[in-house]
This record gives sequence, structure tokens and C-alpha cells, in this order.
Amino acid sequence: MGTDHPGNKSVRRQRDISGLTHSYDRSTKLAKMTRAIISFDTELSAGLYQRGADARANFESSILGRCRDGDFGIGFQMDMLERHRLTGVFFVDPMPALVYGPKVIDAIVQPIVERGHEVQMHIHTEWLAFARFNPVGRFHGRNIGDFPLTAQKKLLALARDILVGAGAPKPIAFRAGNFGANDDTLRALAALGFRFDSSFNGAYRGYGCDISLDAGNLGMRTHHGVCEVPVSGLMDRASRFRPAQLCAMSEEEMRDALDHSAASGAIQFSAFSHSFELLSRDREVPNGLAIARMEALCRAVADDARITSGGFATLPGPPDRPARIAVAAPKPLRTLRRTIEQAYGHLAHEVRYVRDLIYVTVHSSRWGKIAGGVVLAIA
Ligand SMILES: [Zn+2]
Repeated sequence: MGTDHPGNKSVRRQRDISGLTHSYDRSTKLAKMTRAIISFDTELSAGLYQRGADARANFESSILGRCRDGDFGIGFQMDMLERHRLTGVFFVDPMPALVYGPKVIDAIVQPIVERGHEVQMHIHTEWLAFARFNPVGRFHGRNIGDFPLTAQKKLLALARDILVGAGAPKPIAFRAGNFGANDDTLRALAALGFRFDSSFNGAYRGYGCDISLDAGNLGMRTHHGVCEVPVSGLMDRASRFRPAQLCAMSEEEMRDALDHSAASGAIQFSAFSHSFELLSRDREVPNGLAIARMEALCRAVADDARITSGGFATLPGPPDRPARIAVAAPKPLRTLRRTIEQAYGHLAHEVRYVRDLIYVTVHSSRWGKIAGGVVLAIA
């Protein structure tokens, strides 16, 4: 279901299990449902900045997802969510304001707020290296977790103020860039009044994510004063966690992970993507596979009566004794099917790239026409 109204199916199911016939109040029904939080890390590219992109060019590529075939960024993503009557969460990184000025952050935040989706906070501290003014003095770092607690608090407060200045409601949820948070990040968030963190991603343990939680438990629980909302996922091999990310999971894996959360009675299912993830890696063309996967995820959430859609603003906190939500076990054939699907996707993109190259050559030289004709005939 795309709204907060539980479907008839789930109400019947609850009655069957409990054997009770009295009607449930609304809060009881909601507590029994799983909320799918579909989030997009929404960020300008520090790499594009380093290659000379100005604010507009960076915004068009990274946020609007603009390529020669059209726009496939946050506007496209919101259109798709709305077609399925879903609400998305956009974790916006305000740090580029220190380099490009605040206007570009206004341009990111305002359409999201106007369309009724949620803006929450993201941070990429690598931008500090390019800022004229560093609010934490001599400290630099790729991840927020690289900084001492007091510096983290200062950076998070600054990021929050930039977002609010851009027109966002006061953010209550956070996700670290590169999932690079540690326990001090959670302490800093708690001190600043944040209620939720969503930086815990089992695939990044030991690769920047240093939050001291058990990656085998996907349940929401309080840790150092904030409620951790881990990124969902499943095991794709015995010892490898696959996060619920659009470009990392097949439709089948995403459906299985979602179903597992709902069947386990999880409060939330957390899937994520990026503002630019529906583009090819070189950002030249739309990524048909990622678009199809997002469409399938939206459909799966909208069609499942056990699942609601929404963000953090109305998400209940964890119960006093939160249930452990185990990670779904691996299925080797499912992993193999995804590996083949992705290999085919990459191959299709490469073939298109080679064809484009030939097209350009054909139209720029006589010898190119001859060579191009031969290769096209083979391809
Ligand atoms: Zn990011």
C-alpha cells in the first residue's frame, strides 16, 4: 500500500494469528506494519568540482541527473514515487555551500519540500578541503567519523543550519557520506536533538562505517542516544552482506529483502539510492537497469498490504525491547542471476559506447567511414 492505511489483507492476518475479534485501534495496526523508507543521498560531486565544473553544471549532472536523453535525477525519482503514491526521503549534503555558496543548496531543497517529500541531512566532509573557510580549523577528513567529537558536533550543526536556511524543516535524521560514521557521530547527533541515524550499512563495516553495532541485526534500536535505522539488505554469500541499494540489488533480491523484513515484523525496511544513480557510470545516458529496478521496488512497496511508505518525521521509535531482525540468508542461484543481469547491463552499455564512438568517427573522416562500416557490420 502506498499510504498509511493498512490493507484488509493485513488486518485479517492479524485477526487470524491472535484469534481476537475486537477491532484494533489505528496505532496497533500501524505498529504491526513495516514502513519502507526509500531514500536518495542527494549530493553534488566533489570530483566534478575538481574537474572544473561550476555550480550549475554540477547541479545539472548530480541533482537533475541531466544527460542527452533527458533528466533522470531527483525530479524523475519524485515523479516515479508519486505515480505509486509513495513518499521518499532525500538526504541532502549541504557542504558544497562552503565552496559554491548557499544558493545551489536552496535549489536542491526547495522542490523536494514543495512536492511533499522529506529532506533529511547528509554530509560529505571532503568538501572542507576546497572551502575558503574551514569551520573546524586544521581538521580535515573524508568521513565525518574521522573528526573528534567536538568537531563533528560543530560540522553537523553547521550542516543543519545551512539546510534550514535553504528552506528545509529542521532535520531529525542523518546519514553520513560513505556511511563513514562512528559512535561519536551518534553522540553528536543526540546532543543536537536528532532522533534517527541511518549510517549503519553492513557492507561498509571496516570500510569507513565504525558504528559499534551487530551487522547481523537489521532491527531499529537506540544506540548512544539516537535511534539507529540500519540500511536493509540480505546475505548474497555466507559471509557477505548485500545492501538494499538500487544499483547493487536485482529486482528479485530487493523483493526478497522487502518480504523478509515484512515477514519478520520489522518496523522499517530501508532502501537507498543516489540523486544520480539512474544514470550510467559516466553519466552520459540513463541506466535502464537501475530505472527498472526502482520501478519494481516502488511497485512492490505499493502492492504489498503489509508495507507502508514514508519517511522519518512520523516514524515511531523502537520499542523498549526491540526485536532482533535477522538478515535473510543467501540463495546462490539468486546471486548468480543478479551477477549475470549486471554483467549484461555493463556489456550493453559498452556496446552502446563503442557504437557511439564509431558514429562520431564515421561522421568525421573518410577512413573512419570505411572502418566504422566494417565494425558496425560485425557488432
Ligand atoms: Zn553521499
